[in-house]
Amino acid sequence: MSIKWLTDTIYVGTSTIDKVGIFSSLPILTGETIYHVIGQLVTAEFSEQFAKMGPNWIGMSKEVWLDPDPTNPMTFMNHSCEPNAIVTSGPQVMALKPICPHEEIVMDYSTTEIDPYWSMPCNCNNHSCRQLILPYQFLPVELRRLCRVYMLETLLADVISENALTFNPAVRYE
Ligand SMILES: [Zn+2]
Repeated sequence: MSIKWLTDTIYVGTSTIDKVGIFSSLPILTGETIYHVIGQLVTAEFSEQFAKMGPNWIGMSKEVWLDPDPTNPMTFMNHSCEPNAIVTSGPQVMALKPICPHEEIVMDYSTTEIDPYWSMPCNCNNHSCRQLILPYQFLPVELRRLCRVYMLETLLADVISENALTFNPAVRYE
């Protein structure tokens, strides 16, 4: 397996979720900052067509995303329905639980997306896999409560102001 170092401790390696993912050579403690997300801001109106772009982008607020630099770990970070990390203010990626050396670092993509047109199939094979990954506002209420403590305040503020909770995904996904 060929690996590519992105920082002193974070590397890109072979993943069981997708072709590649990110890993740490050192143990990471709960609450520890794993890395900072660095990139370019992208602004566009929410639309069905636009939602298919930028699979690695993270939502910053309504219709604003951060497109990570090609060498930033976010470019390679996979989604899991049982994440061990989350994007929090900074923006930075923080550990939600202790992460062992060479264990894949994963996040829940629903915690960085409020675009009502966005969705993604998931095959993470976890017991709790939601199979169709939808934006934050469509997460089960318990999960929203757990995540919102850490999530970007600008993103959460726009979910509420946008009244996106009235959107009915069944109309689009049946
Ligand atoms: Zn899943």
